[in-house]
Amino acid sequence: ISKSRVAEKWVKTTCGYCSVGCGMLVGVRENKAVAVRGNPDHPVNRGKLCPKGLSEHHILDSPGRAKQPLLRKNGVLTPVSWDEALDTMVARFRDIQQRHGNESLGVVGTGQLLTEECYTLGKLVQLGFRTRNNDGNTTLCMASAVSGYKLSFGSDGPPGSYADMETADLILLIGANIADNHPILCHRVDRTSPGTKPRTLIVVDPRVTKTAMMADIHLPVKPRSDIALLNGIAHILIREGLIDRDYIARHTTGFEQFANFVAAFTPAHVAAITGLTEETIINTAWLYGKAKSAFIGWTMGVNHSTQGAVTVAAINNLALITGNIGRSGAAPFSITGQCNAMGTRETGFTSSLPGYRKFDNPQDREDLARIWNIPVERIPSARGLAYPDIIEAAVQGRIKALWFVATNPAVSFPNAKLLDHALRSVEFLVVQDGFHPTPTSDYAHLVLPAAIWGEKQGTYTNSERRVSKVNPAVIPPREARPDFDIFLDIAQRLGVRNELYPGWTSTHDAFLEWQRVSAGRMCDYSKFTWQQIEDANGLQWGGTSLYTDGIFPTEDGRARLHSVPCDPFTEQPDSNFDFILNTGRTVEHWHTRTKTAEVGILNDMVPNAWLEMNPTDADRLELKPHDRVTVRSRRGAVADIELRITGIVAPGQVFMPFHFSETNSNIVTLGAFDPISREPNFKQCAVRIERTPIR
Ligand code: SF4
Repeated sequence: ISKSRVAEKWVKTTCGYCSVGCGMLVGVRENKAVAVRGNPDHPVNRGKLCPKGLSEHHILDSPGRAKQPLLRKNGVLTPVSWDEALDTMVARFRDIQQRHGNESLGVVGTGQLLTEECYTLGKLVQLGFRTRNNDGNTTLCMASAVSGYKLSFGSDGPPGSYADMETADLILLIGANIADNHPILCHRVDRTSPGTKPRTLIVVDPRVTKTAMMADIHLPVKPRSDIALLNGIAHILIREGLIDRDYIARHTTGFEQFANFVAAFTPAHVAAITGLTEETIINTAWLYGKAKSAFIGWTMGVNHSTQGAVTVAAINNLALITGNIGRSGAAPFSITGQCNAMGTRETGFTSSLPGYRKFDNPQDREDLARIWNIPVERIPSARGLAYPDIIEAAVQGRIKALWFVATNPAVSFPNAKLLDHALRSVEFLVVQDGFHPTPTSDYAHLVLPAAIWGEKQGTYTNSERRVSKVNPAVIPPREARPDFDIFLDIAQRLGVRNELYPGWTSTHDAFLEWQRVSAGRMCDYSKFTWQQIEDANGLQWGGTSLYTDGIFPTEDGRARLHSVPCDPFTEQPDSNFDFILNTGRTVEHWHTRTKTAEVGILNDMVPNAWLEMNPTDADRLELKPHDRVTVRSRRGAVADIELRITGIVAPGQVFMPFHFSETNSNIVTLGAFDPISREPNFKQCAVRIERTPIR
């Protein structure tokens, strides 16, 4: 190793990619991050890191970093000072709001921000700019889990911990390809190492994913038939007496109605919907029902659906009727997406007010007004537009100004044509990001260069509610600034800095106020300080399990059982568009590759997208491996993508990763959204596959 790559010091921090929340050490030499290694003392990853984490330091000084504010002048993004950038932004937003109303401004934040920054941004948007139209990009990934938890338990909050995967008798993963998307969690389901508890792993997924290959039983259900399977399992559990009648009687409501509803989901009926055999469905139900402790984990296969929220409720039903919640090894557990998706959920201003307070609860609003010393009338009594509705309002001309913070919708939003229309329609578009150019910043009137992971101080909260410390290893490049500092400077220009952020100079000031706001709430941060979080390598709010006493945050303290119908997905294949397209991720890349495209080793491993097709379909279409094909839907076409012929996908289905802007899967995806959570249906749309003509 050359001397230039030997670290002079190691900075303890938390990974800035996914929600697993691995602890890591960043090696620094002369203000340059030269290495990363896993923190052996961190309880989440015990020293291990995945390929993204191991190469994360490369993003810090990558050529793609945004390094100076850019304002569009005569059609060209032109370098300007921070003063000119922020003066212009505030003047343009104010002018638009004066002409079209406060709610003509829409803001989309991100699970990439620190919790302290999410909280600061929420106050700025709601109380400074006085628009309720504020949401997170987390609506594209986790909103269904949030809504499903609220439906069943009365509040968001994943009730379990990663350790439950090790203590469970049975682990059921539904639509969760953790081997690609949450790789370090794979160690939690390892049943082969000496000393690990024998337990059964069942994976429900239409694809034979890497995670499915690790399973004892893989259930290759037809797309969007998971609700039928869950109802069918419930049917057998009730029929065979494999339920916890005492738990149901003391801690739930709606059992009689639920039991009557799932009576129709006989094994024969469910087999016809899912494509599984009756024997497999019955066997799965018995394994689940007989387990002393059963853990159900899910991610985007469940959430990315027009029925995402109710699918989560159907999962929760199984946990509730068997009493598999609130104790070791037993939890219905949403594995979240981004490093701080949980932070956006807790600090609120999206689907709830900070601290999981409810918009429609007068007591909750009075509570906040008292803490903030403002009139209660300034706290909104209903949420504003969710992310997809902000975009639709921009298309319709009701949203006239947009501000995106650390997110790249030009690649990540479904139905790219609609998104393009929205971005071109607004009068003023601000993109604040650590990277430029991105497909989204190319549309911007103003680009604000932001500091990123490795350059900021605060906290992230991971999927198991573990709050971990994030520390700066290096200073940001050139004029890039922490998002927190940008927010305070905007507040200064709006004239609300002293009112909203009295005496604040650092993210620690935001944390201190967030402690007061969250005190006594479910996500209670007042129980620990930054130093205690740091020393402990992360602390979980709510402890290892929620609902240990069987009391839920509903009016009567009981959880709700919901009767969930299994509806066919919106766009069924037909003779014109005869394949079902599924989209997803690969371990080497992160979301829209603004970061991982900058890391040579990751990009070299997976430089391009591909399309997976079953051999029987390839034979029918006379296609060969590596042929170039076009994926076409009613909304557009992705041309010239490499074909992989593989039994990983079932006949009639194709799969492509969504990371790549050049072959953006969202050109073809459907703009259909869950009516409750507003999460997009990324997982099923009808396409046809054509050979790309040779030019
Ligand atoms: Fe980072 Fe997630 Fe990989 Fe852990 S599993 S190193 S948190 S990307």
